[in-house]
Amino acid sequence: MRREDLPVLDERRPQITRKGRGAGEPACEKMSVAGTVSQRACVFCGARVVLYPIADAVHLIHGPIGCAAYTWDIRGALSSGPQLHRKSFSTDLREKDVIYGGEDKLRRALTELIEQYKPNAAFVYSTCIVGLIGDDVEALCRKFSALTRIPVIPVNSPGFGGTKKTGYKAACDALARLVGTAHPDNGKGFRINILGDFNIAGETWIIADYYRRMGVDVVATITGDGRISRIRKAHGAHLNVVQCSGSMIHLARYMEEKYGIPYIRVSYFGIEDTAEALYAVARHFNDPSVMERSRTVVAEEVAKTTKEIDRYRRDLAGKRAAVYTGGAFKAFSLVKSLRMLGMETVLVGSQTGNSDDYRKLREICTEGTILVDDAGTLELARFMVEQQVDLFIGGVKERPIAYKLGIGFCDHNHERKIALAGFAGMVHFVREVHKSVMSPVWQFVRRRGEGASSC
Ligand code: SF4
Repeated sequence: MRREDLPVLDERRPQITRKGRGAGEPACEKMSVAGTVSQRACVFCGARVVLYPIADAVHLIHGPIGCAAYTWDIRGALSSGPQLHRKSFSTDLREKDVIYGGEDKLRRALTELIEQYKPNAAFVYSTCIVGLIGDDVEALCRKFSALTRIPVIPVNSPGFGGTKKTGYKAACDALARLVGTAHPDNGKGFRINILGDFNIAGETWIIADYYRRMGVDVVATITGDGRISRIRKAHGAHLNVVQCSGSMIHLARYMEEKYGIPYIRVSYFGIEDTAEALYAVARHFNDPSVMERSRTVVAEEVAKTTKEIDRYRRDLAGKRAAVYTGGAFKAFSLVKSLRMLGMETVLVGSQTGNSDDYRKLREICTEGTILVDDAGTLELARFMVEQQVDLFIGGVKERPIAYKLGIGFCDHNHERKIALAGFAGMVHFVREVHKSVMSPVWQFVRRRGEGASSC
């Protein structure tokens, strides 16, 4: 059977649409359909990846060792100080613990870890097995907080308890327990929190520098290069600037409700969206000097990038791209950035987008573009062959699909080691795309699955 003839499961059909055929947005926010081998991760993974960059906390995974291995330092989130986040601790639950309970192991693990590493907080992630055996993680964490005088925070994230998005919410619930627990530094200036940037390859530093040049102070970066003491004071900010809204919207809404801090959604991917993010912050403060400085920052940065980008545009014009991201918000910026390079996005999807995201994506995509929610490996392979793509933008799980089809790949997920955010990031992005699409290696492989037997 040819890959393009592979059937799509009937239950999956509502989650796949094609612009221009009278269909609306794809159905979304559903549990994955059994049998599709979804690209989505579990609830625990969603929580873990959001909290991972908090560098001065112990991250203890209460469960079998396999869950820990799943998220063991595979991410490129950098810290300017402590490196504790790069260690992934597990209680390594075994059969005996499943029968008699894992609380004793958890107690011993917390005692040892807090004594040895002297962290500023500890996060305890409950995985599937803990959700089944019913260890009272909440009570144990409360006891340890009182005993050690550091926040010991349960993260309720059994993998079966929803989708990856449920894990984002669990992470936000954990962060909400920290915010507001220390006195904020109330200076005179304009103060923001950067939410939903994870300092992949130093991206939070790039963004924070733009704000510094605009005269805006950053109180807390949540969670990129995150520190417990700053998160505790985050309620001292005037505005939450949220990038990955899928993961951080719960915290932003909570802080708006509890502390009256408004939030705006932005993206730092691509020139247009990065500039708009800075202008949106300047508009919020409605201060002419901040606006003036934001214009200067944008003008200086754009001048540095345009020439470099123009060098590659010639080769890339007319190429076709597929984009598959975790949250859908990033996909908007990618579609726009690719368009700036003269490339067309012909397949776009995400693991956790909502109907609003897909409506906007549909608006900005061209006729014939396939929109897909919570895709499986074979679906992505099939549609990439059908759409004759030259480039696939995704994460670590999507990379092998592209290479096996003989298609260029650009890693735009948290595993990457190259900063792609901000103006400087756009230059790195264009170089990456160019290197991959124009690589001479494609002369020696059969492209687009022609005649290949398996993916
Ligand atoms: S699905 Fe359950 S067992 Fe698997 S990694 Fe997630 S939490 Fe662990």
